[in-house]
Amino acid sequence: MNEWNIQSRAHACQACEKQFADKQHYQTLLIDHKHEVQRRDLCEPCWKKEVEGHAAETKGFISQWQGVYEAPPPAPPEAIQKENAETLLRKLMEQSDPKYVAASYILAVMLERKRLLKIKEQFKRDGQRVFVYEQPKTGDIFTIPDPDLQLNQLEEVQRVVADLLEHGLGGPVVVPSAAEAVAEVPSGAAEIPSAAPAEENASEPATAEPVAS
Ligand SMILES: [Zn+2]
Repeated sequence: MNEWNIQSRAHACQACEKQFADKQHYQTLLIDHKHEVQRRDLCEPCWKKEVEGHAAETKGFISQWQGVYEAPPPAPPEAIQKENAETLLRKLMEQSDPKYVAASYILAVMLERKRLLKIKEQFKRDGQRVFVYEQPKTGDIFTIPDPDLQLNQLEEVQRVVADLLEHGLGGPVVVPSAAEAVAEVPSGAAEIPSAAPAEENASEPATAEPVAS
């Protein structure tokens, strides 16, 4: 299942293919297409032509919002980039290893609490909650299913996250003996949230109906 993904903001309208200018307003549509959340970024004229007022009638419609395009700054030199919760989350999601789904979710919750990610949408599919987060600066969206962690699983996931934050994903593979694993309590662990994200800003969840074939 590919419902766990990062989708960058387009640099050009996905209908007319005209490049977005810095500070230009655009519209993002989220569509559930064959069980995959897909984003579509449109310039205002194309938005008006195609879907304004009818967005909700689009097949598989989940959500829609307006954004302001920001021309990307020049990339910083690699050497000064440090691993943080966001870079780690991106790496985990790019690797797309299912064993890190729960860790990604915990990282997203951390980033949301620090207001570095915003929840744009949440919906249920096949009984599973799926969150769509946005990185407000880059406009990238992260689609992450709720791993529905039980309390007894949470501790293990928190340990994995703390370890990844401390040592990084590409660092030496640490296979701690049981004794070491117990002895080593990373200082970052206290910051890791233990509960699901607040739901107060959740709008009426849109239901994503399975697409009839
Ligand atoms: Zn356009």
